[in-house]
Amino acid sequence: MPILSLQNISFSYDDKTPTLRRIDIDVRSGEFLSIVGPNGSGKSTLLKCASRVLRPQEGVIMLDGSAIDRIARPDIARKIGVVPQEAVMLFPFTALEIVLMGRSPYRQGLGFETEKDFEVADAMMSLTDVQHLKHKPITALSGGERQRVYIARALAQRPKILLLDEPNAHLDIAHQVEIFTILKRLNESEGLTVVSVSHDLNLAAMFSDRIAMFQRGSLYAVGTPQEVLTADSIQEVFETDVLVDEHPQSLSLRITLIPSATTGKHHAALYSH
Ligand code: ADP
Ligand code: MG
Repeated sequence: MPILSLQNISFSYDDKTPTLRRIDIDVRSGEFLSIVGPNGSGKSTLLKCASRVLRPQEGVIMLDGSAIDRIARPDIARKIGVVPQEAVMLFPFTALEIVLMGRSPYRQGLGFETEKDFEVADAMMSLTDVQHLKHKPITALSGGERQRVYIARALAQRPKILLLDEPNAHLDIAHQVEIFTILKRLNESEGLTVVSVSHDLNLAAMFSDRIAMFQRGSLYAVGTPQEVLTADSIQEVFETDVLVDEHPQSLSLRITLIPSATTGKHHAALYSH
């Protein structure tokens, strides 16, 4: 049984143009699934539907065997942790306070944090390498540090599924690999199901069991990295020429740009104006 099943999902923001069209995806328990696609293809909208931030006009979402519409929010939060694309935080909570917010689905009413809440928050902050930032206000952290704090907050919910929207967007290369390695470790050792929107096709290929590729609100393809990330599909969906071969060391797929003559001309034309 899939842990999260999106069945025939359609969503539109304005009831006119559909942003998501008849999406069917079964997320398997314990898998690492990456969602890729050009800007505006509906990836963030899909994650918001999957975590019940948005309600699709059509279709059904099943979480762990129950329709998500019928599950109370704290129960959803104990199963799905979310790292949003841009978490806006205007109030200068400390990093620790933010991570402790991830414990709220376990709290009774307005109760205070327990010993266990602090333990879990601590462990998750070690895992994402933000321990040393504990008492710093979130507003004083760099984009990458903030991102790691939000990942720690989502993990503090101890979810079965982690949904991440471009978790590597603000990270330097070392922290990109580090975060994906942490996610992979949790995925493999604790069976955490990971669904991550990624704009980095190489990282997606390296870490994912499966890739779902989106094109203008539709699911273009879903399958193993080898099945989905072909030069032809990338050319069709991203309108970019790439070379797909095998990395000589990791043996995972390697995707590199082929600079095309037309791209150069286009830029030259822009500069000449
Ligand atoms: P992606 O994450 O793949 O870049 P999004 O899911 O953010 O794409 O957006 C898909 C489409 O929906 C885009 O055309 C975008 O402009 C539109 N969209 C996103 N959020 C909103 C919103 N809150 N209101 C109206 N349109 C939106
Ligand atoms: Mg997005």
